[in-house]
Amino acid sequence: MEKGQISVTADNIFPIIKKFLYSDQEIFLRELISNATDATTKIQTLSSKGEFKGELGELTIDIILDEKKKTLTIRDRGIGMTEAEVKKYLNEVAFSSADSFLKKYQDEANIIGHFGLGFYSAFMVADKVDVITRSYKKSAKAVKWSCKGDPKFQLGPAERDFRGTDIVLHISDDSTEFLAESRIQSLLDKYSKFLPFPIRFGTKTRTEWEGEGEDRKSTEVVEDNIINNTEPLWKKKPAKIKEEQYKDFYRELYPMSQEPLFWIHLNIDFPFNLTGVLYFPKLNNSLEIQKNKIQLYSNQVYVTDDVKEIVPEFLLLLHGVIDSPDIPLNVSRSYLQSDSNVRKITSYITKKVADKLKSLYKKDKEGFESKWNDVGTFVKYGMLSDEKFFDKAKAFCLTKNTDNEFMLFDEYVEKVKVNQTDKHNRTVILYANNAKDQHSYIESAKSYGYDVLLMDNVIDNHFMQHMEHKGTDITFVRVDSDTADKLVQKDEEKASVLSEKEEEKVKTLFTDSLGDLKGGQIELRPLSPEDHPVMITKPEFMRRMKEMQMMQGMNLGDMPESHNVVVNTNHPLISEKLLGKIKGEKKEHFAKYLYNLARLNQNMLKGEELSNFIKTSIEFLK
Ligand code: ADP
Repeated sequence: MEKGQISVTADNIFPIIKKFLYSDQEIFLRELISNATDATTKIQTLSSKGEFKGELGELTIDIILDEKKKTLTIRDRGIGMTEAEVKKYLNEVAFSSADSFLKKYQDEANIIGHFGLGFYSAFMVADKVDVITRSYKKSAKAVKWSCKGDPKFQLGPAERDFRGTDIVLHISDDSTEFLAESRIQSLLDKYSKFLPFPIRFGTKTRTEWEGEGEDRKSTEVVEDNIINNTEPLWKKKPAKIKEEQYKDFYRELYPMSQEPLFWIHLNIDFPFNLTGVLYFPKLNNSLEIQKNKIQLYSNQVYVTDDVKEIVPEFLLLLHGVIDSPDIPLNVSRSYLQSDSNVRKITSYITKKVADKLKSLYKKDKEGFESKWNDVGTFVKYGMLSDEKFFDKAKAFCLTKNTDNEFMLFDEYVEKVKVNQTDKHNRTVILYANNAKDQHSYIESAKSYGYDVLLMDNVIDNHFMQHMEHKGTDITFVRVDSDTADKLVQKDEEKASVLSEKEEEKVKTLFTDSLGDLKGGQIELRPLSPEDHPVMITKPEFMRRMKEMQMMQGMNLGDMPESHNVVVNTNHPLISEKLLGKIKGEKKEHFAKYLYNLARLNQNMLKGEELSNFIKTSIEFLK
């Protein structure tokens, strides 16, 4: 039995490993299974090259839990190690890389969650580790290496009649959670779900049913508990995959989710290697819930579901899997963003997504339109946050008007230009954010020959602002921000049927009857007799300011809900009834009543005011 010192230069790093990031201790299992996978891949490669001529045999990796002995073993049938290799790899390579890793990243809490610590992460949970290994080489004898979490090790002959390596972890007293079957099962589910070799964790029983009706009998079948699907969908050739398989895979990843809208199969091996499937989920206006669900793998080993540095912000709404061995995982996050491979990957994914959307729109306009509610959120989000995507999205960014008609955004602007350009030469795009509440405003805009868009998406406010910045000559105006004649400001003014003196009278009457308007103005306008006699408008600028404040969660105390009141001097109820037939005090009641009708139209009459309004109406009818 040989005894030795692992490294003469390194300090004792074991205490650091032990304490290092308590919360990420669990990654030891992934690291060790990852090594086992590497060793298995290597023997497979040697065999295919003819450098290893023996039987490959079963390549399953076993995870063996022994609660009595308090051990957890990771067993592979990979290339194994000779005595010299053990000395070289475990005592030198692994040790010094763990050492330098820890020195470098002690302060970077998130790094270890990715890759790097390797073999020595075993000491996060074990106070003793035995490695029993036998190389694939013909004359190699099995050896056992033991280490108790200090720089001393023991190395000697061992019994082992098959190729490969057992890593036996003697779980320490403060890590007994890793002796619980359920804990290990869930870790395996998390990290090993799609590894390329079968991972077996003991056995499981399954109930099988035979016969029909009363003769129906059940038998318990004991079978291997295989954790993983060794051929995940993203590794297969897209041409060979059926639609149903994509949907099944989605369900496998997100069991409780609604069916995805469509998906993109990523598959590239130059200038970097990247595979994966990205799904467009149903968003249902719940952006935050759907975010951050993409899983990152490296050669089928789960790495993380935090892919912010690799995937552009707006694509975080997508679901699915990205697998790339070319993403450097043991580097800091700030470095990751500046890594040229990562940047290439990012723009590749963006381009793929844009191409897919474009081809979907071209192939099936109606189908695309029917998904626009969800896809639109995503597209607009992308246009807001990514310059390149913005340019590409012009080919599939749609508008939907209040008659449910779709059009490409740019085409829409061209279309409404004819009738909706104001005296400053700006094209006014009219919109409603609630087709029901703003019904009468939409109708009166239409009576002027205008078109009204429906902008009821959570990010539409931002989107419109952005489009105004981008295009110098468009402006968005909500239908209720002014009376229809003023929505698109043109020079022509209608004449009022009232004299100046009469107008004066009307103005005073309304000013006296309406009470405090909190900064709102009363305006007289000679509209058409078909328009309403009194209308409420909410000026675009003020309203947007308020909405912005609300979005930022600011206090609205100093910004009252203000609105303007427009009196249509050409309406007979004003020009004839109010100025003529009605006398004395009743005039004020009448003005107030018309005002309340206008408020009712804007959904502004609530509670006691609404009750009183109904009472007054009934009185009127008597
Ligand atoms: P890395 O895997 O990043 O090289 P590790 O510290 O995990 O670093 O392992 C160091 C070396 O030990 C590996 O490169 C490999 O040569 C050897 N090794 C570790 N585990 C095994 C195993 N299960 N079978 C064969 N060799 C192994």
